[in-house]
Amino acid sequence: MPCWLHRSSFVGSLALGLGVLYLAVGCCLTDGRITATPWADRPVVDPGASVSHPVGASAASGPRLDLEFLGTGASWTIPRLGCSCATCKAARGSSPRSRRLRSSLKVGTDPYLLVDMGPDVYQQLDRQPKARPDAVLLTHAHPDHASGASELDPIARKSPIPLFTTPPIFAQMSQNMPWTVPLFSFEDVSRPRRAGPYTISSFALTHGTNTVGFRIERGGRALAYVCDVDEVPQPSLRSLMGLDLMILDGTNIGLLPPAAPEPLHIKPDGIDRLLRATRPRRVVFTHVGHMAQPHEAVAERCRKAYGAEVAHDGWRLTL
Ligand SMILES: [Zn+2]
Ligand SMILES: [Zn+2]
Repeated sequence: MPCWLHRSSFVGSLALGLGVLYLAVGCCLTDGRITATPWADRPVVDPGASVSHPVGASAASGPRLDLEFLGTGASWTIPRLGCSCATCKAARGSSPRSRRLRSSLKVGTDPYLLVDMGPDVYQQLDRQPKARPDAVLLTHAHPDHASGASELDPIARKSPIPLFTTPPIFAQMSQNMPWTVPLFSFEDVSRPRRAGPYTISSFALTHGTNTVGFRIERGGRALAYVCDVDEVPQPSLRSLMGLDLMILDGTNIGLLPPAAPEPLHIKPDGIDRLLRATRPRRVVFTHVGHMAQPHEAVAERCRKAYGAEVAHDGWRLTL
């Protein structure tokens, strides 16, 4: 992990102070922005109240929801520089779907949400018809999810982009990258919020740092982004009921002995327990780890083991 994530310096302390100050001021300013844009509405429902339909029956009634997996890799891209393992070899040759940028998801088309902004966000957004997302959702401040924030400068400098996350995560990002703070208008998603046609709620995840997952609903369709999770705390399970789609941390899928699972990411037995407890209608793995086999092989294993699919970069899915 880059040392700057852990640095303790005068600049860092100053940045934290500025971040906290920004949070305090930003929260006050939020009301002003709410009336100015439909993208940042007031909290609309109580936590958990967005679980609106039972397992087994989709409540879908509105227009279909388009998703695009902009990146599906874990902390490092695949192939890794200098690596000649079977997965990296396949990614360079016979299996282009094994080639993965850092995980990021586009939800909708216009308007659209961007979930996470890792170091590959420039090339992920530059190929979009509209480079500027209408809002960004940030799961946590680890570099593979947040360190591309400064890449958004050219599209955010004149008009900050709404950033939906929780106060501690925003404070961490502000401490790590104080120069990115003016690019965003912080929107506290500790309580469910409406953003344009989307209802967004967050739920806590265990991942060694402040981390959330997101439940996103539109037109009666519900998906959850559960990327970077070791365990799902019991109170968060209610946010994962009645899902049309669960997008889940695949860091440790496809591991073959003697490879050891990555810590801080959900293990196969945890995946079993989570899927049995929540019974989503469709499961797609992202954040696929380096130790997974080439895409085609790991996709086949996950289909047999969980009835689940494995995403690849550029995959478009309509819900
Ligand atoms: Zn990650
Ligand atoms: Zn992480």
